[in-house]
Amino acid sequence: MIVVLKHGVAENKKQQLISWLEKQNLRVNVSEGDYQTVLGLIGNTSHVDTDLVASLAIVDSVKRITEPFKCVNRKFHPEDTVVEARGAKVGSGNFALIAGPCSVESEEQIVEVAKAVKAAGATMLRGGAFKPRTSPYDFQGLKAEGLELLRVAREETGLPIVTEVMGVRDLPQFEDVDVIQIGARNMQNFDLLKEVGRMRRPVLLKRGLANTIKELLMSAEYIMSEGCTEVILCERGIRTFDDYTRNTLDLAVIPLLHELSHLPVIVDPSHATGLARLVPPMALAAAASGADGLIIEVHNDPMSALCDGAQSLRPEEFASLAEKIRAVRKAVAE
Ligand code: PEP
Ligand code: MN
Repeated sequence: MIVVLKHGVAENKKQQLISWLEKQNLRVNVSEGDYQTVLGLIGNTSHVDTDLVASLAIVDSVKRITEPFKCVNRKFHPEDTVVEARGAKVGSGNFALIAGPCSVESEEQIVEVAKAVKAAGATMLRGGAFKPRTSPYDFQGLKAEGLELLRVAREETGLPIVTEVMGVRDLPQFEDVDVIQIGARNMQNFDLLKEVGRMRRPVLLKRGLANTIKELLMSAEYIMSEGCTEVILCERGIRTFDDYTRNTLDLAVIPLLHELSHLPVIVDPSHATGLARLVPPMALAAAASGADGLIIEVHNDPMSALCDGAQSLRPEEFASLAEKIRAVRKAVAE
């Protein structure tokens, strides 16, 4: 349920209403916009007398949110959410260019790639330390050592780090990770979503391989219902009948998610296509469609990458793409 307050309501009257609602076992999320204040009520609102609330002098309107997702709902929080990690912002006109290798392989590799993508305009560094691989015999990531190398690269470049957590057990190692990634395969690992939500750190949530938009929003709801306010939604392609590409990129989710939710929406053209030559056109299409950012795999030597070399751009290819992304964003803003 949302309660929209009248413009210019006195602070003490607003606080009185909030305390009264909280006494009814509800959590109140206050969203202050330029023109209106919206109180989002979290919890069981079935016993709340909507007519009574609507009759209060400071209340403009009361609406029940019919969708099952509440905290992530645009109705709940009409303004765009801006997620911020070490000064890098995403959402509401702030574009995140997240780049780096699929996996952290060595100090030399991650630092070299980090420096190159930063010089090209990247705002955050990606790199997997814990890798979800289809085969247990494939490289599984450097784990704790990989996280340490990401810290080194962060120290060298100042770029915030984005890296995936695979299980609740590993979460204590992620305390100082700037953006915690939940991968496609874990999108519905509800225990993990809840634990990550309790950390109240920025989260990058990827859409599952075969999950609907509603399911993605419900997973973000799991994270936010635990108190986290900073979730970035990521479209990374879904599985369809076609096998020329690794997945099928669903770009329509960008405007759709912006309608349904206040959370920033980014696109991963690397996992969506699986082919480096398809990454630039899909990245530009996502930027033109209003994405709040991109997460792109970049490797200094794709031919010898331990994971996802075929979809990785070389640093110089990324630099040229970054320039085109800026041009496309400028063109669609005009
Ligand atoms: C990744 O970003 O490294 C990754 C494994 O992506 P996804 O979860 O989208 O497959
Ligand atoms: Mn990858």
